[in-house]
Amino acid sequence: MEQTLSIIKPDAVQKGVIGKIIDRFESNGLKIAAVKKLQLSECDAKAFYAVHKERPFFGELVKFMISGPVVVMVLEGENAVIKNRDLMGATNPKEAKAGTIRADFAESIDANAIHGSDSKENAKIEIEFFFSKREIY
Ligand code: ADP
Ligand code: MG
Repeated sequence: MEQTLSIIKPDAVQKGVIGKIIDRFESNGLKIAAVKKLQLSECDAKAFYAVHKERPFFGELVKFMISGPVVVMVLEGENAVIKNRDLMGATNPKEAKAGTIRADFAESIDANAIHGSDSKENAKIEIEFFFSKREIY
């Protein structure tokens, strides 16, 4: 069964919509194989988003991701990577389709409620960044 990494970002945690977002996954055939709430350090956030380090928004992205606690999850199901990306909606919530998580819970391109792995390869790397084997069921 395919797995992917999801992060409920600080804006959505602050808004109190953890349960509503998890419900989107469980109602659409994705199981929560692992879940934890944590506070990212600056070092963690920089390492996690290292692929974006040359982008102009990198500094803001890191600052935002450490601005409050996040909820990190492993989602499991058929075509989990693509299914999760479909449920999330476009990076910019203003362009996200109605009924997607970002359309319903996000305010702006930087505070956009959720992260999801963009490929199977990155999903494996991102899951290993946060979880040990014995934390995933
Ligand atoms: P996604 O999260 O949809 O996979 P990216 O991987 O391209 O999007 O970007 C990672 C994160 O960086 C985005 O979720 C968003 O929070 C932030 N970001 C991306 N593009 C911009 C931008 N143009 N301005 C500000 N923040 C951005
Ligand atoms: Mg991405």
